Amino acid sequence: MYTADGRRFLDFGAGIAVSSLGHGHPGLVKAIAEQAARVMHVSNLYRIPQAERLAERLVAHSFADSVFFSNSGAEANEGMVKMIRKAQAQRGHAERTRIICCTGAFHGRTLAMIAATGNPAYLEGFGTPVDGFDHVPFNNMNALRAAITPETAGIMVEPIQGETGIRQADPQFMTGLRQVCDEFGLLLGFDEVQTGMGRTGKLFAHEWYDVTPDIISVAKGIAGGFPMGAILASEEVASHMTAGSHGTTFGGNPLACAAANAVLDEILAPGFLDAVEETGAFLGEALAALVRTHPAIFELARGRGLMWGLKCRLPVARIQEMATRSGLLSVTAGDNVLRLLPPLIVGKDECREAVAILGTVAGTLESETGKSCAGSEARTDGKQGPIQSHEEIQA
Ligand SMILES: *Cc1c(COP(=O)(O)O)cnc(C)c1O
Repeated sequence: MYTADGRRFLDFGAGIAVSSLGHGHPGLVKAIAEQAARVMHVSNLYRIPQAERLAERLVAHSFADSVFFSNSGAEANEGMVKMIRKAQAQRGHAERTRIICCTGAFHGRTLAMIAATGNPAYLEGFGTPVDGFDHVPFNNMNALRAAITPETAGIMVEPIQGETGIRQADPQFMTGLRQVCDEFGLLLGFDEVQTGMGRTGKLFAHEWYDVTPDIISVAKGIAGGFPMGAILASEEVASHMTAGSHGTTFGGNPLACAAANAVLDEILAPGFLDAVEETGAFLGEALAALVRTHPAIFELARGRGLMWGLKCRLPVARIQEMATRSGLLSVTAGDNVLRLLPPLIVGKDECREAVAILGTVAGTLESETGKSCAGSEARTDGKQGPIQSHEEIQA
């Protein structure tokens, strides 16, 4: 990206994991321009071939049998919760309305989704939280089992928690979620709004775990920057929704679907997801080396595919600001983590350059403290191991 005055930025935020094909991608631009010139919107009172094609392709490449299109991630999650409740009601369990979510989750900003998110900071000032969501610690199967009641309808979990610092679900936890849902007749929903559409090197992140959900939500990168969300569901869940059960005016309009089809053309092209995985692994190794070189500034790097978090020892906002000044755009997340979510078409050279910028930022911060902090050999206090914290350096 370039500013009006010509400064150059590497965009490793991608509009919060949205601009999956970068900016000005010829195929995406052409698809949007051509569709806009024909028809942008008709409403789903009519059959929309672009939407049917998109739905067919998503179904062909996933566990799902049906797709519903929305305009955002929060709206997709709302629909997912409605579908879980409706399926339980239609199966004779109208009392099953509650959804188990995890602490540290992020599910969006509507009234119900701030309740599902459960973060007090997002609920504050907005009155009584919407009822129907119970929270258990992420990756804790004992706590999850203990939280199941006769009113539990299903579970909604992110395979990798994005907003709270790129925290991955344990494989045993994911497998356990499927088992517990089968055991108690619950429905398993994954919020793949951030992890889906190729971000982790698979079309959907749950594929890494070999666990089949009943329903998932996607959004963010699905249409490469055009606002769109989707719910993908198995027939078991989707069949309970009949005409009139749910709806949307804008969702699945021809323009959004043309954009999403153009994005899918790239993501499903042979070798594309392999390249995401390979470039992602390269970025991860470069970040791990960065952490080793600057242990006083960075604590660890974690992630998968092109979804990485760099846990910082100094306030992340400061590091992000310095990186921005040096030409690298990134996103902050919880747990003092700097999030790196480059477009899925990013190359190794760009990853190298991004990590070099972070290295320069770290060097500046180290020299500010007046000492070299390049690992245990830099210690002058006689203690062993890398320097642990900013306070310790100053001390
Ligand atoms: C961004 C995000 C949402 C909310 O999506 P919006 O399009 O902002 O409504 C929900 N869940 C996850 C995991 C997200 O990352």
